Amino acid sequence: MAGMDRVHICEVGPRDGLQNAHHLMPTEAKKAWIAALAAAGLKEIEVGSFVPPKLIPAMADTAEVVKYSIGIKDLKVVALAPNLKGFQRALEAGAHKITFPVSASRKHSESNVRMTPEQMIEEVRKCAQLPHPGVEIEGAVSTAFGCTMQGEVPEDDVVRIASALAEFCDCVALADTVGYANPAQIKRVFRKVKHQIGSKLEAAHLHNTRGLGLANALAAYEEGVRHFDSSMGGLGGCPFAPGASGNVITEDLVFMFESMGVKTGIDFQKLMVARDLLRKAIPQEPIYGHTPEAGLPKGFRAAA
Ligand SMILES: [Zn+2]
Repeated sequence: MAGMDRVHICEVGPRDGLQNAHHLMPTEAKKAWIAALAAAGLKEIEVGSFVPPKLIPAMADTAEVVKYSIGIKDLKVVALAPNLKGFQRALEAGAHKITFPVSASRKHSESNVRMTPEQMIEEVRKCAQLPHPGVEIEGAVSTAFGCTMQGEVPEDDVVRIASALAEFCDCVALADTVGYANPAQIKRVFRKVKHQIGSKLEAAHLHNTRGLGLANALAAYEEGVRHFDSSMGGLGGCPFAPGASGNVITEDLVFMFESMGVKTGIDFQKLMVARDLLRKAIPQEPIYGHTPEAGLPKGFRAAA
């Protein structure tokens, strides 16, 4: 029933966005931006990644950013960990949820984490077996819809990896890391995975590389998905997947759902305040968004 429905949006700009931006955002600006995003109604924010700082300097302050963010009321603070060491650092910093990317593309996996997908699944299993009271573990199947290095990624590989992760993760996400997916494929793959793991399948992580981000989000929504990752201003990409560009744009995703009568819990005007902070913090970085450029339609009403 329209009006009763709601979606949950996780803002991944501070991680997926900034790790691929050309300009570094100072730590204090990151904190102010995250606080503004939370004030706009985002209840979950992926604030950083515990990768080796030498590999991605933009993520070097993740521990400090996590420690700050867990002080924000009602905010679920997510951090990415690529391995056991990252997991331990994330736990130490106090992250509420830790997400592990497991690439379904063998070539991407070897380049990204220097492990095969099978070795990466074992790494996540090892972490999940360590004590982590109250901390949620997400297994995110990346390059689930294609890969710039390998090309096609067999759907059976995606289903197999998602099923393995569902054994010991609290939830599983499917990620179109490089923006290859189309809506028909999104529906097909989400349906296949859901058939295997049911409600453990949670989020859709989509990129807008070919302009299909919103179409893919809607396709996932129609398949029953209610958790979406997106990034303010469409920042984002993957430094180890050449050709990957920005995430689906938070502002446009919020507008799409709210105008459909689907609640996001996010206040559009306050979202613009956060967008201003982003623009001021890294003014040379291109940021996108159709609704922020055009403004809300006359007479627009958010979902009630
Ligand atoms: Zn991504």
